[in-house]
Amino acid sequence: MHINETLIRSVVEQVISQVRIQSGAQAIVSSNPARGHSGLFDNVDDAVAAARSAFEQLQKRPIEDRKKIIDIIRRISISQCVELGTMEMEETKIGRLKHKIEKLKTLGEKTPGVEFLKTECYSGDRGLAVIEHAPFGVIGAITPVTHSLPTITGNAVSMIAGGNTLVVNPHPSGRKVAAEGVRRFNEAIRAEVGIDNCISLICEPTLETAQQLFKHRKIALICVTGGPAVARAALNSGKRAVVAGPGNPPVVVDETADLDLAARCIIQGAAYDNNLLCIAEKEVFVVNSVFDAMMEAMRRAGAVQLNAPQIAALTSKAIVKVGDDKHDAACKDYIGKDASFLAQAAGVSVPSDCELLFGETDEHHPFVSVEQMMPFVPFVRARDVDHAIALAKKYEHGFRHTAIIHSRDVRNMTKMGRVMDVTLFVKNGPCMASLGLGGEGYLSFSIAGPTGEGVTTPVTFTRERRCSMIDDLNVVGGITNL
Ligand code: NAD
Repeated sequence: MHINETLIRSVVEQVISQVRIQSGAQAIVSSNPARGHSGLFDNVDDAVAAARSAFEQLQKRPIEDRKKIIDIIRRISISQCVELGTMEMEETKIGRLKHKIEKLKTLGEKTPGVEFLKTECYSGDRGLAVIEHAPFGVIGAITPVTHSLPTITGNAVSMIAGGNTLVVNPHPSGRKVAAEGVRRFNEAIRAEVGIDNCISLICEPTLETAQQLFKHRKIALICVTGGPAVARAALNSGKRAVVAGPGNPPVVVDETADLDLAARCIIQGAAYDNNLLCIAEKEVFVVNSVFDAMMEAMRRAGAVQLNAPQIAALTSKAIVKVGDDKHDAACKDYIGKDASFLAQAAGVSVPSDCELLFGETDEHHPFVSVEQMMPFVPFVRARDVDHAIALAKKYEHGFRHTAIIHSRDVRNMTKMGRVMDVTLFVKNGPCMASLGLGGEGYLSFSIAGPTGEGVTTPVTFTRERRCSMIDDLNVVGGITNL
């Protein structure tokens, strides 16, 4: 996960200046690449037809060719991470450049591939049953602005490993880098494997094109990665859906925790890409007996503490009322912005390399209940660990996404694990350790909580098919005399 920052900065500067010289323009993403091939389409019907044709070709190829396609996606994602990550940063204007680059590299390196497809076999007296994992066909993928191309990279690797092709409806604010990445993937796949449009993309995505994808009769399965509205839309679409929905991951710190480790982990997770990760630490409940010591540990680890008037000033700008019921929501102008930008709104000046702001609030503060996606994290006093766990449960909102505890007491860990009932439960690490980044396990940026698939893999995007041989091919046992 760690790339030398000075090196990145110099490479990034070179890439930006080269592309600007070549294009003679300020924008480094081509605004109107050719459509109708290389995965780029103006409408849903054309995109689905092209992906369907690619699927039919892929079906006739050996699994080795899926592996070749995945290797191409990995190669581009890794070797062009600086250029593509810079494009993503310039287009979306949220998060941190270093992490935009790192995410592409990480997804390219670590998303599981065809090796994940394991055939199961049952043999016994009555013969042999073989269970294989078959593709669905063309999958419709909806991707978020928080990780536009990284999500496409991860989805493409998993879905193609399962033998599928896909049509992507990207977030409109990340559509250009999505198109550029998809064009590069497809051109290389066409040149090296001879199939175009394995990953097709709607170049001007809207809510209507997403709906058309949901309803399209040639889309066999949908996979959405995003917030509450798209999760609801997918669940109501009438089509089989893999839904990677929103989170609001709480952290509990009890009296047995290593507070310095907890502080370092909270900063690492919550500050990553300015808190855009759906798994990122969003609010912290600390037992009263160590609350002050935990705040001190946060300061020692480099986070900057805001006082009550400063938190109020930040909140008045960064949290807005939306909808008929006037509920609290994160203000778009502040999502994914640097800590120094948030500090300015709070009336404080912090060094530009400050990664995270934090401060004490009560549980009713909007920064506790809202999935803020900003590098300011509220800390709330809890009477004891049971109170902290109850608050964590309440403010996770039943998303069953991610929760974290810092503790050395296994009973407290067990209790919280049972109560939270989340897809990812992390003990004594930063959130990303749950995706195999500093912990065990494997990676995906589509974590399907509501529909239960968990961290998606190639197997998520396959149908089980069974072949049964009756009374034969079992060399052990059997009811016939041979
Ligand atoms: P978003 O919900 O605004 O958009 C996500 C995608 O859904 C976009 O492509 C958008 O155009 C589309 N969309 C939104 N409303 C829709 C509707 N009613 N019908 C059809 N399509 C619709 O989210 P975002 O700001 O791009 O991303 C951040 C959100 O995504 C956060 O809530 C975060 O927790 C979540 N997320 C979840 C995971 C996961 O693995 N569970 C991963 C990344 C992000």
